[in-house]
Amino acid sequence: MAPEIPKEQWAQVIDKTGGEITYKKIPVGKPGPDEVLVNIKYSGVCHTDLHAWQGDWPLATKMPLVGGHEGAGVVVARGELVKDVEIGDHVGVKWLNGSCLACDFCQESDEPLCPKAQLSGYTVDGTFQQYCIGKAAHVARIPKDLPLDAIAPVLCAGITVYKGLKESGAKPGQWVAIVGAGGGLGSLAQQYAKAMGLRIIGIDTGDEKKELCLNSLGSEKFVDFAKSSNVVKDVQAATPDGLGPHAVLLVAVSEKPFQQAAEYVRPRGTVVCIGLPAGAYLKAPIFESVVKMISIKGSYVGNRKDSAEAIDFFARGLINAPFQTVGLSELNMVYDKMRKGAIAGRYVLDTSK
Ligand code: NAD
Ligand code: ZN
Ligand code: ZN
Repeated sequence: MAPEIPKEQWAQVIDKTGGEITYKKIPVGKPGPDEVLVNIKYSGVCHTDLHAWQGDWPLATKMPLVGGHEGAGVVVARGELVKDVEIGDHVGVKWLNGSCLACDFCQESDEPLCPKAQLSGYTVDGTFQQYCIGKAAHVARIPKDLPLDAIAPVLCAGITVYKGLKESGAKPGQWVAIVGAGGGLGSLAQQYAKAMGLRIIGIDTGDEKKELCLNSLGSEKFVDFAKSSNVVKDVQAATPDGLGPHAVLLVAVSEKPFQQAAEYVRPRGTVVCIGLPAGAYLKAPIFESVVKMISIKGSYVGNRKDSAEAIDFFARGLINAPFQTVGLSELNMVYDKMRKGAIAGRYVLDTSK
């Protein structure tokens, strides 16, 4: 029997950049021919959602906007062209809501680079609502035995850090520094890195995050950036030979660490930039960059294959990152904490509350 779809639903809506966020009832959308309608059960809150609301980036959002892009739920309707997603399937609505599937980038499976990419919670309405539309080709397939609350953060944070670790080229047994380790992306990055056989230096601040990184998430060393008088020296000293980590994954939301990483990365090492602090610039000393032969690159979410692989790591029980669940109505509280850097791990919103 086809599930009953209400005409109205609860959503968190903004009408202007930086303006009030209103928890209210809005109409439920209808999926187009190549789309599915997903009854979102849980949605993670990514720092990207806060950037979108604040207007931090040189890319306009749609308005009014429903944010969110870590949505896990159940397919309740599909367009007439959709053949490979069934009503009742569990799926994830990711940052990449859709892409053209025809351009050079899409053909090369670099669909995040598609010039026509549609972004959930940014250029199309996202997952901070009970019913969200996604392109069928791009919704992530979630096995039915997996918990939809715990998997929600994998749909952006997990996929992104898994891709970033692959892009780093770090091999099992090598060291990776995760900068912003106690946050949403950082906590998942440690779990993926550990599962991939890497050794981890967590960099963040505060005892709560330190303990989490060292005791639960997989870091062997921790550098508190606020307490350290010389982060560069301390990160290098954290590797047994003092030459620094083979890779650096930058998931912090501040400019300074982006200007330090090239100094402590090991010769031949790779710095992977993932965090997107507003108006920030990268900086690296040319002399050391050349004579150390370092690589600096950006990494942006992941393609459909990366997404399926990241979910598979979770399905095999390798990914256990902390999350706290609150109602969809509490988004403002989550943003307040996020702005202060006061969230260890991720918040997940339950759309039924
Ligand atoms: P978060 O707020 O959960 O975590 C950020 C962490 O960085 C916090 O724990 C904070 O204490 C830490 N931090 C701040 N300054 C630091 C410093 N100097 N050194 C070390 N750590 C520091 O944020 P999140 O949801 O994990 O997102 C992180 C960033 O990644 C955001 O900018 C987000 O937009 C971006 N992002 C990028 C992609 C991509 O595809 N490239 C995907 C998702 C998110
Ligand atoms: Zn995100
Ligand atoms: Zn394309």
